Amino acid sequence: SEKLLSVKNLKTYFYTEDGVVPAIDGVNFDVEPGETLGIVGESGCGKSVTSLSVMRLIPKPPGKIEDGEIIFDGKDLLNLPEDEMRKLRGNEMSMIFQEPMTSLNPVYTVGDQITEAIKLHQGKNHKEAVKQAIEMLSLVGIPLPEKRVDEYPHQLSGGMRQRVMIAMALSCNPKLLFADEPTTALDVTIQAQILELMKKLKTELGTSIILITHDLGVIAETVDRVIVMYAGRVVEEAPVKDLFKKHLHPYTEGLMNSIPSLDERKERLDSIEGSVPNPLDMPSGCRFHPRCPHVMDKCKEEIPQLEEKSKGHTVACWLHN
Ligand code: SF4
Ligand code: MG
Repeated sequence: SEKLLSVKNLKTYFYTEDGVVPAIDGVNFDVEPGETLGIVGESGCGKSVTSLSVMRLIPKPPGKIEDGEIIFDGKDLLNLPEDEMRKLRGNEMSMIFQEPMTSLNPVYTVGDQITEAIKLHQGKNHKEAVKQAIEMLSLVGIPLPEKRVDEYPHQLSGGMRQRVMIAMALSCNPKLLFADEPTTALDVTIQAQILELMKKLKTELGTSIILITHDLGVIAETVDRVIVMYAGRVVEEAPVKDLFKKHLHPYTEGLMNSIPSLDERKERLDSIEGSVPNPLDMPSGCRFHPRCPHVMDKCKEEIPQLEEKSKGHTVACWLHN
């Protein structure tokens, strides 16, 4: 089928005073229309840099997209002039973040902020924009939207603010929505509500979503397909059901074991031993080898490539290749 987004051999490096950080080092993935893709990994694995690269929001310098191809809706993004790219952002792709308070402007009402986006992107007049803002607030499950539209961000709870952010991000009717740790700052009950909302919107609006998270638990209920990233590379990719049935990569195993238990009497089951590698001094071969319980000599020398093991399920690990 026709891909909405196709990322090939993407490399984004940061040139720091201390050396070169290969934040993304040869990443490949696709997103189908109407699909939700999860990108999972620990902080620093390159998952946020991946989405910022697709939106061409990497600060330059020190960042630079070194290599690769990004095709979005038939457009070659890495060769698009900046003004066309700007039009695309906020129109055809938009983004929600972890902490809405930093992205909402405290001195404007919720309604002002949403109508601003609608007027800018859809050329509607004020009255039409207000009407649509109220519809959006109602769509994202904000009670009494006619009243809320005149309130300021600080008058809303964290969960409500995140709903407003989602309403803003969707007000331009994007084809692709990036959600970077959208529920991390929220408590567990509200998290579940926001994820439920995102699922509902995906079904109703047909928006493709890239959900970025460190928490495999969040992924389980929400996405169609998952890519697992480690130290700037994709180490496993699978339909979400397959991943939970039979994950293959030792790093995915570690992430599975560190999903917080719902039973609050228990502590976290296990976390992965060792720490994320120093990005200025990446391990040779398989970058996970210093932490891997199954490490072999070959792992330290040769980089394992992604290989398909069953339909749509690929892994980069010498145990399986
Ligand atoms: Fe572990 Fe080797 Fe597989 Fe890397 S390639 S995950 S070190 S077994
Ligand atoms: Mg991040």
